[in-house]
Amino acid sequence: MRPTLHLVHLYPGLLNLYGDRGNIITLQKRCAWRGIELRVHQIGLGESLPPDPVDLYFMGGDQDREQTVVERDLRERHREAIQNHVSAGVPFLAVCGSYQLLQQYYRPAEGPELVGLGIIDAYTVHPGHDVPRCVGNIVVEWEGGTIVGFENHGGRTYLQAGAAPLGRVIQGHGNNGEDGFEGARTGNVFGTYVHGSLLPKNPAFADLLLHLALKPRYPDYELEPLDDSLEATAHDAAIRRARAMRG
Ligand code: GLN
Repeated sequence: MRPTLHLVHLYPGLLNLYGDRGNIITLQKRCAWRGIELRVHQIGLGESLPPDPVDLYFMGGDQDREQTVVERDLRERHREAIQNHVSAGVPFLAVCGSYQLLQQYYRPAEGPELVGLGIIDAYTVHPGHDVPRCVGNIVVEWEGGTIVGFENHGGRTYLQAGAAPLGRVIQGHGNNGEDGFEGARTGNVFGTYVHGSLLPKNPAFADLLLHLALKPRYPDYELEPLDDSLEATAHDAAIRRARAMRG
């Protein structure tokens, strides 16, 4: 039986500054290589979510300005549906500015505080434009392995009791450059500052998202392994590059 998954891609035209759409392409290819149909529903400002089932959410990163544009629409139009879906275990990957919008709030360097969905028990504060941004290659210890990529954010995120970190920073800044943690996981909701795009160089993370998306409606379906030698080569090169940058 050929599974069909429905992925909701929120605000693709607004939240895609660092090529985060590469994450969607990776999921599409990793499904196609296995004969899984992945239907991507692109949801822009003012648009409604597709009817159920929703099996997976993705929302990418962008600058503060775009976050401000998205914030009200996300909260007023989609908060209840998203909270119901993630409470039922639907996986959600949120990158950078989107990670911040799933938190309690994001206080930018100027302008009003953005109210998040409160799904991730954390908050983010931008320390001001005179403070260096968190920019560069990043390597994170994750589930016994590593996640690699690139980060570029001014906001500093502080996890609270209800949120576990995604991983521990080996190289780079992560959430705030102080506590040694990167990202957050609450249930099957994943927030991260890792761009790059994230998933092409981190196939194990991509397959975890697909496994979580499949489980509720296809509990007996097992993802067959793929030849990830190209991805592993890119992953290892990213680790070497990050360590070389550290000197
Ligand atoms: N608000 C984000 C920041 O902390 C925007 C950057 C991003 O999404 N890459 O700078």
